[in-house]
Amino acid sequence: MSQITTLCPICKRPINKDEDMVACAVCGTKMHRRCVEEELLTDSAGEWLCPYDAVLAALDWVDAVLNQYAHALTPEQRDDIVERLKNYLKLLGEIPP
Ligand SMILES: [Zn+2]
Ligand SMILES: [Zn+2]
Repeated sequence: MSQITTLCPICKRPINKDEDMVACAVCGTKMHRRCVEEELLTDSAGEWLCPYDAVLAALDWVDAVLNQYAHALTPEQRDDIVERLKNYLKLLGEIPP
């Protein structure tokens, strides 16, 4: 009989039944509690998020702020933000380092 093994997306190891785990409030992905950093992977309501949904939530916030306040940024601040966005693209392997 085959057994379905859940892999933790962070350490890529199986999550055994006796291990302490948390689940993403958005997609239900299970992660070892020892692998998640609370300050990074919880939302304002204290719910756990997987790394993907945590990034999406942060981008939604950026989106909302930019949509409302982009006009309030100076050209220097815009350049600064563009540079940081380029660093994210490097982290994601989208542009060479
Ligand atoms: Zn893990
Ligand atoms: Zn998720």
